[in-house]
Amino acid sequence: MADGADRGPGAGATGGRAPAQAPERAMWCDERFDFQGTFLQCLAKHVPNIYSAEMDPLLEKQEEMVQAAILYPLECYLFGEDPDMFLEKLQQSGTSQLCGKVFKGGETTYSCRDCAVDPTCVLCIDCFQNSIHKNHRYKMHSSTGGGFCDCGDTEAWKAGPLCTKHELGSSSSPKENSECQLNEEIMEHSRRVFPSVIKYIVDMLIWEEEKELPPELTVSREKVDSYYCVLFNDEHHSYDHVIYSLQRALGCELGEAQLHTTAIDKEGRRAVKAGHYASCQEAKEEIKRHSENVSQRPLHVEVLHADVMAHQKFALRLGSWLNKLMSYSSDFRQIFCQICLKEEAGSEKPCFISKLMLWDAKLHKGARKVLHELIFSSFFMEMEYKKLFAVEFVKYYKALQKEYISDDHDRVLSVTALSVQMFTVPTLARHLIEEQNVITTITETLLEVLPEYLDKNDKFNFQGYSQDKLNRVYAVIYDLRYVLVSKPTLWTDRLRERFLEGFVSFLRILTCMQGMEEIKRQIGQHIEVDHDWEAAIAIQMQLKNILLMFQEWCASDEELLLRAYRECHKAVMRCSTNGRSREKTMFHLCGHTLESRPYRVSADPVSIHLPLSRTLAGLHVRLSKTGAISRLHEFVSPEEFQVELLVEYPLRCLVLVAQVAAEMWRRNGLSLISQVFYYQDVKCREEMYDKDIIMLQIGASLMDPNQFLLLMLQRYELADAFKKIKPTKDQDLIKQYNILIEEMLQILIYVVGERYVPGISDVTKEDVIMREIIHLLCIEPMAHSAITKSLPENENNETGLENVIDKVATFKKPGVSGHGVYELKDECLKEFNMFFYHYTKTQHSKAEHTQKKRRKQENRDEALPPPPPPDFSPAFSNVVRILNCDVMMHILRTLLQRAVELETHLWTEAMIQMVLHLLSLGLLEEKQQLQKSPEEEVSFDFYHKATRMGSSALNAVNVLMLLEKLKRVPQLEAQKDTVNWILQMFDMVKRLREKSSLTTVATASASEAAKGDESTQDKEKAERKRKAEAARLHRQKIMAQMSALQRNFIETHKLLYENTLEAQGKEDAIMEEESVSSAVDYSKIALGPKRGPSVAEKEVLTCILCQEEQEVKLESDAMVLSACVQKSTALTQNRSRILELSGDTLDPLFMHPDLPCGTHTGSCGHVMHAACWQKYFEAMQLNFRQRLHVEQIFDLENGEYLCPLCKSLCNTVIPIVPLQAQKINSEDAEAVAQILSLARWLEIVTVRISGYSVKNAKGEKQNLPAFANRGMGNSALEFHSILSFGVQSSAKYSSSIKEMLILFATTIYRVGLKVAPNEADSRIPMMTWSTCAFTIQCIENLLETEGKPLFGSLQNRQHSGLKALVQFAAAQRTTSPQVLIQKHLIRLLGVLLPNFKVEDTPSLLEVDMFHILVGAVLSFPSLYWEDAVDLQPSSISSAYNHLYLFHLATLAHITQIVISSATESSTACSPDNSEEAQSAQSFCREVCQYTSGCFSQDIPGWLVWDCVKKGIMPYLRCAALFFHYLLGVSPPEELLQDSEEGQFKALCSYLSLPTNLFLLFHEYWDTVNPLLQRWCADPMVLSCLKGKSIAIRYPRKRNHLIELPEDYSCLLNQASQFRCPRSSDDEQKHPVLCLFCGAMLCSQNTCCQELVNGEELGACTSHALQCGAGVCMFLKIRECKVVLIEGKTRGCLYPAPYLDEYGETDPGLKRGNPLHLCRERYRKLHLLWQQHCIIEEIARSQETNQIFFGFNWQLL
Ligand SMILES: [Zn+2]
Ligand SMILES: [Zn+2]
Ligand SMILES: [Zn+2]
Ligand SMILES: [Zn+2]
Ligand SMILES: [Zn+2]
Ligand SMILES: [Zn+2]
Ligand SMILES: [Zn+2]
Repeated sequence: MADGADRGPGAGATGGRAPAQAPERAMWCDERFDFQGTFLQCLAKHVPNIYSAEMDPLLEKQEEMVQAAILYPLECYLFGEDPDMFLEKLQQSGTSQLCGKVFKGGETTYSCRDCAVDPTCVLCIDCFQNSIHKNHRYKMHSSTGGGFCDCGDTEAWKAGPLCTKHELGSSSSPKENSECQLNEEIMEHSRRVFPSVIKYIVDMLIWEEEKELPPELTVSREKVDSYYCVLFNDEHHSYDHVIYSLQRALGCELGEAQLHTTAIDKEGRRAVKAGHYASCQEAKEEIKRHSENVSQRPLHVEVLHADVMAHQKFALRLGSWLNKLMSYSSDFRQIFCQICLKEEAGSEKPCFISKLMLWDAKLHKGARKVLHELIFSSFFMEMEYKKLFAVEFVKYYKALQKEYISDDHDRVLSVTALSVQMFTVPTLARHLIEEQNVITTITETLLEVLPEYLDKNDKFNFQGYSQDKLNRVYAVIYDLRYVLVSKPTLWTDRLRERFLEGFVSFLRILTCMQGMEEIKRQIGQHIEVDHDWEAAIAIQMQLKNILLMFQEWCASDEELLLRAYRECHKAVMRCSTNGRSREKTMFHLCGHTLESRPYRVSADPVSIHLPLSRTLAGLHVRLSKTGAISRLHEFVSPEEFQVELLVEYPLRCLVLVAQVAAEMWRRNGLSLISQVFYYQDVKCREEMYDKDIIMLQIGASLMDPNQFLLLMLQRYELADAFKKIKPTKDQDLIKQYNILIEEMLQILIYVVGERYVPGISDVTKEDVIMREIIHLLCIEPMAHSAITKSLPENENNETGLENVIDKVATFKKPGVSGHGVYELKDECLKEFNMFFYHYTKTQHSKAEHTQKKRRKQENRDEALPPPPPPDFSPAFSNVVRILNCDVMMHILRTLLQRAVELETHLWTEAMIQMVLHLLSLGLLEEKQQLQKSPEEEVSFDFYHKATRMGSSALNAVNVLMLLEKLKRVPQLEAQKDTVNWILQMFDMVKRLREKSSLTTVATASASEAAKGDESTQDKEKAERKRKAEAARLHRQKIMAQMSALQRNFIETHKLLYENTLEAQGKEDAIMEEESVSSAVDYSKIALGPKRGPSVAEKEVLTCILCQEEQEVKLESDAMVLSACVQKSTALTQNRSRILELSGDTLDPLFMHPDLPCGTHTGSCGHVMHAACWQKYFEAMQLNFRQRLHVEQIFDLENGEYLCPLCKSLCNTVIPIVPLQAQKINSEDAEAVAQILSLARWLEIVTVRISGYSVKNAKGEKQNLPAFANRGMGNSALEFHSILSFGVQSSAKYSSSIKEMLILFATTIYRVGLKVAPNEADSRIPMMTWSTCAFTIQCIENLLETEGKPLFGSLQNRQHSGLKALVQFAAAQRTTSPQVLIQKHLIRLLGVLLPNFKVEDTPSLLEVDMFHILVGAVLSFPSLYWEDAVDLQPSSISSAYNHLYLFHLATLAHITQIVISSATESSTACSPDNSEEAQSAQSFCREVCQYTSGCFSQDIPGWLVWDCVKKGIMPYLRCAALFFHYLLGVSPPEELLQDSEEGQFKALCSYLSLPTNLFLLFHEYWDTVNPLLQRWCADPMVLSCLKGKSIAIRYPRKRNHLIELPEDYSCLLNQASQFRCPRSSDDEQKHPVLCLFCGAMLCSQNTCCQELVNGEELGACTSHALQCGAGVCMFLKIRECKVVLIEGKTRGCLYPAPYLDEYGETDPGLKRGNPLHLCRERYRKLHLLWQQHCIIEEIARSQETNQIFFGFNWQLL
């Protein structure tokens, strides 16, 4: 057994317990001594001492003492040898074949829909994973606690009762083997020990004296005055109540009160004060008083003597000791059970176990748990004793249930919850019915606990009921369901008698329900208070399946069925007496008369609850189905039968529904509407609405048809409506009449047409389900779960859907979102019945609409006649007679007449539709009968009646004639096709009648007749076709226009990259023209003298707010893009790094190569005028401040708002700065190239910087670069040399643009560093460059993981966002002091330049080179700053600046890669001796030299080259993106395509690099040599090379969400093994998985809350701060939901990427189907993360689901 090795707490501390206790052991070993006496003496001596420190116990110490003083000697005596060794042996000798694992709340249980006998049969996760059911249709559910694993119980499973683990156990220890496990001596000892132990436990647990102990436990020593005030747990008081009461009553600290409360909740009771009796008594009163103040009831407090407390505690310890012992041997269990069941001879007292059961409700939580576990581990593991236990249980059933109902603990903590373990075992249930009469016991219990709800008529009335109490009553009802769950296959006389006895007893409950909660129509005033209707409906729901099961049980035995029917009939009759006092009245219509007692639903009381009548209806159809109905007269005489009376009540109920629909019951409030809803809802209808229809069918089959219809008319209060038309002006009344007529016609349609009930016609259950599904799918394609929800469940929670669905529907898989749906197969469409009785009004019209539309699309007529119904079974065959009876004809004719005569207010289209439907039914019936038997035998003469005149009046017309006229009624245009269909049917039936002697001819001519009508039909068809064709052409035209637009769109955007000639900048004027050929040549190069021209088109943008267009210009007012800045860890290489939560002291200039946390800027790409945005923003802020809870969606202080167009969450705007187009004059370039070598450029830069330094040094003390080789080089160079290669004046931005530049830069600074805004902070430019570099890196990363080309594949929003960001970053410099920019630049160059070094320059291995590149390039123009004039480098100057900066950064990066990554062997490419390999080799030699041999020279050149080529790719790609968006130079074609091949070459060419990258070193050797020396001499580098530290490897790993298992139950398995790291209790936990890093957290639990900056944060929220810089993604495993959170206040739920086989997610695991990972959906989540759209998603979901406002995300 899994927990066999668990030796309880203190197991580890038992090593030294043996020797010290030798004398005691010796004493117990004496065979002759009185065990009980000695045992009790021992306890009396030790127990009070061991448990003396109750208030502040040292648990480990206590356990040690218990082991040493009591348990060890006891075990020695019991086993006769060393207990540890003995138990070890015992354990190895075999295990039980029952698993018996007891579930804790929240644990996942598994059931098999194929093999479980009922859904209460479950497996634990271990057994499930090792069972055959793993591959069956299983269900997963969360246990509420208290159940146990049924593995090994052969009665619970149809197949595979054992998992492989327990199969081993059963085969290795056959029965006889386990019998002789224990030798006789031990058995003998057990028989001696167990009774004393059990008696002690029982005595102590039910001990009621608070001051005294039993005499045998009282020690002679002086009784000390030491008491405890003990507080007990209950379900009425909340945690906070208890804490509050304790604080007030005891004056203790919050922490102490919390500690007490937690312990009370867990253990069930706790001593909260120790002291003398009086002081404890005082504390008790105080606590009671204070708790009464907060809630109605006082807390349960007792004062107990210390010794009593100690012994009770120890009794529980002994209980768990026994519990452990039980797991070792079947013999122990049997002996234990025998003793527990033993009754004292001649005594009436219950046995031990019954005593405990009866005391259960008085025990505290902790004691109950021990008791129940003990029952599980002993009785429930031995089938024979389980039965004996069950007998005891049923014996005291009433008492136990009553105790439970007044108990204040949850059901899981009650011994009554064990019923399911016994009652669902089929043999046990049978035994209990036969021997213990359990059905009667349960029903009588119900009758005894419900009387308080009985009114003066002995009917239930639940007004003002207590929900909690009723819930407890439901538990009893559930027991009834458990007992009935498996129907017997064999009936014995005894079983039959007992069952019938139970059934009769059950009928008594139904009698109390029949007609309960009567209501009366409210006239005049609206009712004041809505009725409590929920309780009665809830009981109906609870009873639904029980009623069905009773009927099924009855139906399985003919004798039983008939006797049950008689009993039920009697009961109905007894309830049908009221109204007898009234005088009968007469009602005449078309020559027929109805004599009845007056009753009006609209005036007299009526009830919707008629379980007796409905049970009778259920039994009646079963009589019909089994054929037993032929013997009915033997049991119920025809005089007694009184069908009118049987029909009466169900009919009233249907009339009530009709009147509610006619709004006659408006004033009775919502409660009635709800009742009517449930009456027809799938949860109740089987035993309510459906049965009422059946009862009407019974009536129609047994009554005279005209009488039946007259009764209908009278009860619907429509007698007048069909008599003579009394002109009335009351519009409301007319409307009411019309609705009532519609309702009645509908019911008539159902009575005649609805035959899909086994017994009413010859259909199977499968047919019934198929028909339900067909009609659901006729409305629209539906998801599996939606269909399931609309079908009734049987007692096993099955709908039977899976068996038939594939016959009627095809499954369509879902896409990345949404769910899979079933679509109806075409061949099933003919089954569609518009008046399907389970359609609601909306479903009805939706289905009608869908089907008509479909027929129209197929160019068919729109008639939707009823499908031919199956034949009634003989008992019901008379029902059809109501179709052709006189009253029916009168009704049909009257209504048609009204329609034809255009009395518009007296009829409705719906009404006519129903009339037509009834006509169709009649014709179909006659046709079917004629086709089956010769004409003379067919008495059903619908045709004849319909073609006969209704009266002798001159203008009288028949139905057929009316139909012809109907075709011309304009309002009924839509019904024309149906009318035509009916006319054809008339014709066909006529021919069948006429030529019935020649049946074959008849059918042939019938088809011919149909043809005759075709000429008109053809015309209509042609017309329809023409219209359809016109519509098709129109659609085509529109499609063509659309695709043309699309093509244009593509064309325009292509230009962005292709065009070189059209670049028109202002600077062009001062430049020479250039040859077209060279333009093509260097047009695709971004850096250096051959730089291509910028492609800067004129940008005209439309503001989304004012819709006005504006060109983007330097000097115009600013236009802005809405944007969202957020911190991000999406690229981190090291999640264990601790992030600084506040950036107050952070220096963000250098980015660590781990990229631990960056600042990402994203945009939705929507453009506004800065001014428009500001107005909008202010209005929005004002508006939101007035809204409640808004702080949870928007952080207004931090500038959050929603994009006015797409509602994305934004927190700033990016100003759109136009690209300054530049072009290089090639002659100039060549000239410059002559002079400006890298060496010279370096010198110039150095001189410039040192010049600044000298100038600035006068003022403040700066971090001066130390110039290494100042003396060297050309001294002719001076401070201004840098300007000589070309300058131009700086761009002049409009003030509006400047303002926006500052605003955006400040936002980046504020969000990126989490600091207060400060426009003057020196770190603002750094943050600008940093977010620019980081965002580019994120985009490059995203493109790579998505496998998209570098250029041309960005989403529009990404493209415009990036463009704006880079241009902004270049322009931002102008709003900061140039000295500051220079200062930052110098620090950046410190890493790259060989000839000077700044003090705090980080090591080469500690910087991200791309960040340096971006910073250096963007800050470099500051070197051109002069006091007087605002200058910036000319195009040619910046071309060289960019080139050299880039080359230097690249050299540094290559060195980084070689040092950190070229150490491991790569298998990707084969050795070769290419030029690159050789260069690499020689480079390595240098490095080796400079690192004094630390760098291994042995690495082959080709390998180094391979590493560099792979490692440098992301950097090159980022650089290409950066320079492209900075300069606007078109990239080469290869970068627009997704090809690995050409990419490297193209990048090198675009970035002016040799493809053999090592040639760079070669080319610049003199300059690079000292730099390389410096880099290599760095201590960090050396330590890394020596293997002492680890540097980041290149290429960096691309982050992915963690791997998830394919099968969801694997995750549940993980979760079940999850232990909270902070607490060791077994309380239910909510394990949550971080999808970024895979950490499993303990969420929503106080144990794992953390204090961050003075705020309590839940485990998830605090984890997110580190793991995702505040934004994170979790999977709640037990709920199967993904949670996205941001910061402390925001979050949302998202469906987990797991789907069941029907393509649906299962949030909350409500359905419990097996779930499998959907890779596409998981990828979508991955993209959500990498695209930085999590915040956006949260904001969007919060906008739509306002429900989560209340959730405290902070504590997640
Ligand atoms: Zn198990
Ligand atoms: Zn098992
Ligand atoms: Zn199975
Ligand atoms: Zn505008
Ligand atoms: Zn937007
Ligand atoms: Zn994480
Ligand atoms: Zn925890």
